[in-house]
Amino acid sequence: MKRTAFIAIIGRPNVGKSTLMNAMLGEKVSIVSPKPQTTRNRIAGILTRGEDQFVFLDTPGVHKARNRLGNYMMRSVRSSVRSADGVILIADAGYDPGQVEINLIKQIKESELPAILVLNKMDLIRKERLAETIAAYARLHDFVAVVPSSAKNGKNVSEVISESEVFLTESDWMFESDDLTDQRERQIASEIIREKLLKALNEEIPHGAAVVIEAFSDEEDIIKIRATIFCEKESHKGIIVGHKGEMLKKIGTYAREDLEAFYGVKVFLDLWVKVKENWRDNDNLLASFGYDSKTID
Ligand code: GDP
Ligand code: MG
Repeated sequence: MKRTAFIAIIGRPNVGKSTLMNAMLGEKVSIVSPKPQTTRNRIAGILTRGEDQFVFLDTPGVHKARNRLGNYMMRSVRSSVRSADGVILIADAGYDPGQVEINLIKQIKESELPAILVLNKMDLIRKERLAETIAAYARLHDFVAVVPSSAKNGKNVSEVISESEVFLTESDWMFESDDLTDQRERQIASEIIREKLLKALNEEIPHGAAVVIEAFSDEEDIIKIRATIFCEKESHKGIIVGHKGEMLKKIGTYAREDLEAFYGVKVFLDLWVKVKENWRDNDNLLASFGYDSKTID
């Protein structure tokens, strides 16, 4: 009998949501970055084992919305919880629950969904600290399971999957058994390029940048991709392109290597940079960059 579960992965920025989801899938579907707020859209990661299909919904980290893009991100968290059968709340194993976690637990209680607590980054702390964190969370909510983990090192990742079996209900699958994500290949390409941009640059430029895939052709033994990085200012463009184009070349090389690993074929990447002022507060531009508010809720 086939079973399915939709599972929302929620938690503050940077706790390791995307790392955990990728580790559970064994593939890089969601981008991971030491900089917070890198996951903009809800991304589904699909894991099919035997008769069971898990659909994990990686969400943007919870934070105060500072612009319309931020608003969009927060609505996408709430809509993930609404469409889920269960919740994985991830928190840092080294800290007592803060305001963000308290609010998320409130949302969990209101939704009446079963929830697993994953206490991540256990590699960074002592055992005694972990015990204190577990006790502090136990006072707030009755989780169906508490799993200490180190998603980055793959520690206890399989435990999170087996605990997630409580979320499964008898139903037809929504995806094919070998589907990995609901993201179209173009979206994955754009996320990989944005990840390299984040890695290569600091501060506010990456958050003001969007990557649009202009052309994507899957040929016999090569994928050809033409992509444009949109940034908000001429001066940002100068930084992204770099002296004699060196920065852009570096971003392109790293992105191409990852894209080739993901698709398993050679990739030709043609990368451009353009300026579009204030795109983060322009609904039409947001939609054309793929952050369309009509596609959530
Ligand atoms: P998200 O914002 O919640 O999706 O967090 P990410 O998955 O992007 O991870 C944020 C940062 O934490 C990245 O630099 C990860 O490599 C790092 N990280 C994730 N899991 C662990 C872990 O178990 N231990 C340690 N030390 N770092 C981790
Ligand atoms: Mg993330």
